[in-house]
Order: sequence, then C-alpha cells, then structure tokens
Amino acid sequence: MNIAEQVEQLKRRLQEYNYHYYVLDDPLVPDAEYDRLFRQLSALEQKYPQYLTPDSPTQRVGDKPLSHFESVQHEIPMLSLANAMHDDEARAFDTRIRQKLEPGKVDAKIEYNVEPKLDGLAVSLLFQQGALIRAATRGDGETGEDVTQNIRTIDSIPLRLLSDSPPAILEVRGEVYMPKAGFERLNRLQQKEGKKPFANPRNAAAGSLRQLDPKVTASRPLNIFFYAVGKVDGIELPDTQSGRLAVLRTMGLRVCPEIDVVKGIDACLAYMQEIANKRDMLPYEIDGVVYKVNSIKQQQALGFVSRAPRWAVAHKFPAQEELTVLQDIDVQVGRTGALTPVARLQPVFVGGVTVNNATLHNAAEIKRLDIRIGDTVTVRRAGDVIPQVTGVVLDKRPENAVVFDFPAVCPVCGSDVVIDDGGIVARCSGGLFCDAQRKQTIIHFVSRNAMDIEGLGEKLVELLVDKGLIHDVGDIYQLQFDQLLKLERMAEKSATNLLAAIEKSKQTTLPRFLYALGIPQVGETTARILANHFTTLEAIESATSEELQSLEDIGPVVAQDVMVFFRQAHNREIIENLVHAGVHWPDINKGDQHSTELTGKTFVLTGTLATMSRNEAKAALVALGAKVSGSVSANTDFVVAGDKPGSKADRATKLGIEIINEQQFQKLLGNTDLDPEDV
Ligand code: NAD
Repeated sequence: MNIAEQVEQLKRRLQEYNYHYYVLDDPLVPDAEYDRLFRQLSALEQKYPQYLTPDSPTQRVGDKPLSHFESVQHEIPMLSLANAMHDDEARAFDTRIRQKLEPGKVDAKIEYNVEPKLDGLAVSLLFQQGALIRAATRGDGETGEDVTQNIRTIDSIPLRLLSDSPPAILEVRGEVYMPKAGFERLNRLQQKEGKKPFANPRNAAAGSLRQLDPKVTASRPLNIFFYAVGKVDGIELPDTQSGRLAVLRTMGLRVCPEIDVVKGIDACLAYMQEIANKRDMLPYEIDGVVYKVNSIKQQQALGFVSRAPRWAVAHKFPAQEELTVLQDIDVQVGRTGALTPVARLQPVFVGGVTVNNATLHNAAEIKRLDIRIGDTVTVRRAGDVIPQVTGVVLDKRPENAVVFDFPAVCPVCGSDVVIDDGGIVARCSGGLFCDAQRKQTIIHFVSRNAMDIEGLGEKLVELLVDKGLIHDVGDIYQLQFDQLLKLERMAEKSATNLLAAIEKSKQTTLPRFLYALGIPQVGETTARILANHFTTLEAIESATSEELQSLEDIGPVVAQDVMVFFRQAHNREIIENLVHAGVHWPDINKGDQHSTELTGKTFVLTGTLATMSRNEAKAALVALGAKVSGSVSANTDFVVAGDKPGSKADRATKLGIEIINEQQFQKLLGNTDLDPEDV
C-alpha cells in the first residue's frame, strides 16, 4: 500500500470509529486501538503534509451530532485536548510552553491548574440572568445537540445560579459522568431486563444523556463537574483558571474537589501519581489528568491549534480496555452452581497488569455479543474489578472462528444444567454433590468478610476437599494437626497457625455467620438486616415468609431462598455441627454487637450521596438498628450531608446537630467494603 492509500484507509477507519463512538455511543474498538491509529495517521500527515486535509479526523473534534435533536451552534468552539501518553510527552508539552512564554529561561516554572480527566461527555450550559436556558453536547465542536430537558433532570445542576446579581450571560462547560456505583447498578439492571449492558461508564453517560425521552435520562444516575467558562457577559471573572473555578463553585456549580494548582512539570507528574493512587477510591471514572496553564493571559498568548488548545494537555493513564484474541472458553462452576464462561486470552497488558483470563458472564452474553473462539475481543479491566470481555471486533474475525456450544451437563460433576433467572443463568443441578459447588461454598465460608479464617485460601480448600479431609464447612472444625502435617508443603508452624486461626474464627457475629452460610441472595447487608431484626438464629430459622418480607430490602424471592435454605435437613445438620464444634456469637439483645453503636440513633439524609442511593443508605442504617427520619428535629442525632445538601443541613446547624459527610458516614456504617450482591 502506498502512503496515499495508507492515509486514506486510516482516515476511513477513524471516521467509522468516530461515528460509532460519538454518534451511537457504542464504540467498535477500545480507545487504545483508536489512539494507536490516530497517532499513526498524525505521524504520516506530519511526514507527508501533502496528504493532510481539513476533513482529516486529526483536524476535527468529535462527529456531526444526531439530527433528531435540535442543533445548537457553539459561539466559542468546544475543543478537544492534546494527549500525552507518557511522562516524556508531558515534559515535551511543558518545554514547548516555557519556550513560548519564557524564552531563554531554562528553569522557569509555569503555574498549572491540574485536574482529573473525567471520563464522560462534554456539555455546555447557558445561564441567562442566572437561569439555565440551554444545554448542549459538544458534538463536532461547532454544532452540538440541544439536551436542555435532559440536563434539567440531573439533580446536582442548579436551574438558577446561586448569586444575588447573576451575570447577563454565563456559559459554563463541564463533563457529565456516571458514578461507578451507578454504572454497576445500571448494568445489572440492563442485564436483568435482558437489555444490552453499556461497555463502560463513559458510554453509559453519553447514552443516557442523549435520550429522546428525558424520563429515561432522569432514571439514570448522572452527575456533572464543571471545568471551564465559555461565553461571558456582565461579570468580571478572575484571570486564572483556578480563580474562575472558585467563582463557579460559589454559584452552586459542582467543581471536582481533586483540582489543584502546582508549579512546574515535576509537580504536575507528582499530582498525576497522587491521583493514580486514589483512582480506585474515587466514586467516578477518570482516564488521566489534565494540566492547564493557569494564567488566562498566558493561555491567550499560547492560543489554539486545529482541535485543541496549546495551553493544556491530557496526560492519560494506561488503557483499561485493550484488544486481544480469544483462544478458548472454559466453564467454571460457582458456589450456587452458576456456570460462568471464562475467556482464555492471548496475554494482554491492560489496566496495568497482564491479563490471561476474563469473564464472559453467561451464555446469554456470549450469544448477545456473538463471540467466537478465535475472535479479536475487547477486554476491560478497571481497578480491582474482574477483567471482562465487553465486545468483539467483527471485521477482524478469522474464517475458522468457532461458535461455542454451552455445555448441557456440568463440566465438573456431570449433573444436568438447568437455566434460571429468566433464561440468563445456567446452573449445575448437582448441589453439594458437585465438587465445584462444595469447594466454592467452603471458600466463601472461610473468606475475610465471612468466618475470616486466615491461611485457609482457595488452593488449600481445594486440596482438603480433594484429599477427602473436608466434605462440608462443618468438617473444618474437625481438622487434626496430624492430618494437616501430611499435606504437601504444610510444615508444623503453618499447621499450628491454621488450627489457631480456625479456633479463633469460632468467635464470630451472627451477621457474619449468616453471610458465611452462603444462603442464596443473602449478602452482607441482608445478613445484617436479618440478624438485627430477629436477633437469634432460631428466630430466623423459623421465620415465616410474611415476617421476612416485612423487612425493608427483603422481597418474596429472598424470603423464599432463606426459608428453603433452612428447610433443608443437611443445612440444619451442618449448622448444628458448627454450633456443637463451638462456633458462637454474642447475643445481639445484650447490645455487644459490633455495630450497635448506631442502634436507636436517628439519622436524617440530605443531598446526593455519590456511592449509594437514598434508599440504600436508609436500608444500611435500618440494618444497623438506626432510625431514619425525613425532617430534622431536636431528636435527630446525625445529619448525613451528601452533595448539595438542602435546608435540612441549615436547620441542623441551627440546632447544633452533628453533620457528617459521605466519607464519615461510610466509616460509621463500617461499610467501605460492600458486597456487590448488596449494592
Ligand atoms: P479527549 O477525551 O481525549 O479529551 C477532551 C475531552 O476531555 C473534553 O472534550 C472533555 O469532554 C474531557 N474532559 C474531561 N475532564 C476534563 C477537564 N478537567 N478539563 C477539560 N476537559 C476535560 O477528547 P475527545 O476528543 O472527546 O476524544 C478523543 C478520545 O476519545 C480519543 O483519544 C479516544 O480515546 C476516544 N475515542 C475513541 C473511539 C473509539 O472508537 N473507541 C472513537 C473516538 C474517540
């Protein structure tokens, strides 16, 4: 292929990828692949400028907006950002800036406003005399889509600026995003309803905002951070980026709290590291940090290139999505018998580690994505979440790709596979006859948030089951020193330590014990709710469906699962054996339970919490024995203030009632480690 053809092919591919990404919110390839091709094209255009045309994707922002929205002309174009993939590219950016602003001064330190790069979509909001009159997407930078009605459904956006003398015109720009917890929740719901899950929070945010029916947008957990000012009339703004953000904040516009001002590129890189360390803990997704020259005068002196300002750069984290080849599919059997297809992958570096395996969720997902062995697939690994296959690149499919037949019998015990949960989950019907289910039940029982038996990891459990030393969780407490010593690589010291850890675990709590039993659908929060309400195991064992359903958070399905579990003779026998072996817990009625410090306390919730919905917060409090009230009075013990707290917080201040923020609230709940089943 000659250069002209190469350039043409790259342009066509990038245009197609742009269309799927920006217009359909349904990307064909991961960003890393897009970025590689984009850079290839830029390099060719730089080397052979005769092939550079104004319509090249390297010269343009986004893509044409969808025609079924009204279009909005941006008076000041909404641009993209230049990217730096590595430290040396960020340093080169700083060198260019210094040469331009401080020629000759080798050690000049530029002041930068440093910000997280939020992974959502850019919008512009226009306030006239303080009232929100229009909101638009970025679109192709010149023309965006009118999404005013949809933007108005985002609770944290003020419909009127907090200002006694609002400017005649204030256009602000920011990023609409979907918090991580909301994204997980939305995707679980999509799957439950047999709908297509979103590939990542960015696509989920874009797909949710660009809905023709604002009611759909309203049902989606969206939020926003503002980071720039567009057109202004009737107000004198500070002459720094940081000063302007401070003004936005005072007007009630959300600004990311992680933003900082630093001097020089070394401090920028240190900031990036600091944010990288925090990244998994942040409730929203980011894909890098942005360094912006802080002085507006200096920004103006630097100006723009075709699609991005010269005074800013996005320093990106390593990609969380990559392409690789699906070499095979194995099927694993979980604790409840659910069969999970696992992708065996050509090793790929993604999310900071080399990934060999990823989950394919279930048979329905393989079908939905039409994934075949031999395909090139997208693998996503974000934070500590298990890597997953999120898509397939159809135009890379080899001719000999093989369709995967989901097994009709359990690959471990040979029992029939049954399909439940609305045809989505395939389960082995072997119950505890199935070795895989038994092993997983035991692994769950000993895990950290359950009985917490240190030193009894997955491998050792598998070995103990394979050697016939344990058949069920009750047998753990019958293990003998001599038996352990006979195991490979088990020395006296580790055998002693393990027995001590087993002994220690006997002293537990009722919620932990209930959770450890692995009752279907009973995660940590539900276990806590049950324990706090019924207070004894006997009461839970004999509770009727109505009694169980009278509790918040427990519906007919969970009630049924709890009752069926305790009705099984072998489960009752195992519980009896455990108690007989000495497993015990303090009596909740005596108030010596871990979290009873909240029992009887009255809470009032105000504002939006980033990590949980109002109902989830309520359920968590009730589970710990606290009361939740709708209004603040002298009897209120705590007011939990999320984002944009309302008048309740003011009233609490007046009454001298303690106001706690979300972080303090999470701490009080002892709940930094939520079980995904509970969220
Ligand atoms: P970008 O995401 O690289 O950077 C610009 C955008 O960053 C802004 O428009 C704004 O939305 C956002 N942003 C977040 N935080 C910000 C902050 N603090 N200050 C300023 N802006 C902030 O640019 P882009 O032009 O939207 O998209 C290009 C990128 O999108 C590519 O690098 C690629 O990774 C991805 N993309 C992927 C595909 C695909 O097929 N996978 C297709 C097109 C684009």
